[in-house]
Amino acid sequence: LLGARSDILDSPESDAKPDLKQQQLVLDHITFSYPSRPEKPAIQNLNLNVKPGETLALVGPSGAGKSTLFDLVLRFYEPQQGQIKIGDQDLSSFSLNNLRDQFALVSQQSELFYATIADNIRYGQQDATQEAVIKAAKAAYAHDFIMQLPQGYDTHLGDMGQGLSGGQKQRLAIARALLVDSPVLLLDEATSALDAESEYWIQAALDKLMHTRTTLVIAHRLATVKNADRIVVLNHGCIEAIGTHESLQEDSELYRRLSDLQFGRMEDEESPS
Ligand code: ATP
Repeated sequence: LLGARSDILDSPESDAKPDLKQQQLVLDHITFSYPSRPEKPAIQNLNLNVKPGETLALVGPSGAGKSTLFDLVLRFYEPQQGQIKIGDQDLSSFSLNNLRDQFALVSQQSELFYATIADNIRYGQQDATQEAVIKAAKAAYAHDFIMQLPQGYDTHLGDMGQGLSGGQKQRLAIARALLVDSPVLLLDEATSALDAESEYWIQAALDKLMHTRTTLVIAHRLATVKNADRIVVLNHGCIEAIGTHESLQEDSELYRRLSDLQFGRMEDEESPS
């Protein structure tokens, strides 16, 4: 594996700096198939502009291409057709480091390493001071549970964060993202049920994280789609509709169906009884 070469060509000498705080992320007529399934495009002729500061929710049935969009903007893969740009520059004109510094990723499965809690939070910002680490953990509502661990921030985690609950792992991932302070957050909301208290603290932490930056969120919660500036409905790799929760309820049959299936039950749970 160490000897394997990536198909993605880096240009480490490029000092061009993307700036997604000011510039749009542009997906221009993107078509993409995974190398192992060349005959079945995961994304087909997709156009989308993401403006600085906006919250964009991605919804769609399983296999619609939501995670693939994250893979493409992070340049883990390259589209076979079309161009992804920041402002008017193609992603390939930036070094991978400069490009990926623009993004923080909080996925459903938080990648935690066999290292201390502090090292795990510091993963994207190796030179962060202990004070900065603690500040990020407090903002992510992780400080209290960390302090209850045997060695606090110096507690060693097993592989994949063994010994922590799902909700605790996710709060560490949020603390890590807060510490790197990148312009764009890519968030894959948890589908698995968390207990009500974890859910509450994670939502509070995410609200802080999303507040000041551009967010692309694979949405599984009613509150997220309601608060999004725009919702993109994906189906079979294409954009089927774009709008707000209210407008899509009117205009998109697929959204209505997804919304009833996915969010209907939650609406009952979230309304005061
Ligand atoms: P889910 O909600 O289930 O996570 P999704 O909308 O995120 O689905 P993607 O994971 O983007 O969907 O998948 C889009 C299509 O690409 C699917 O048909 C999927 O089977 C295929 N696919 C995803 N990852 C790979 C891969 N690494 N290799 C080959 N095909 C893949």
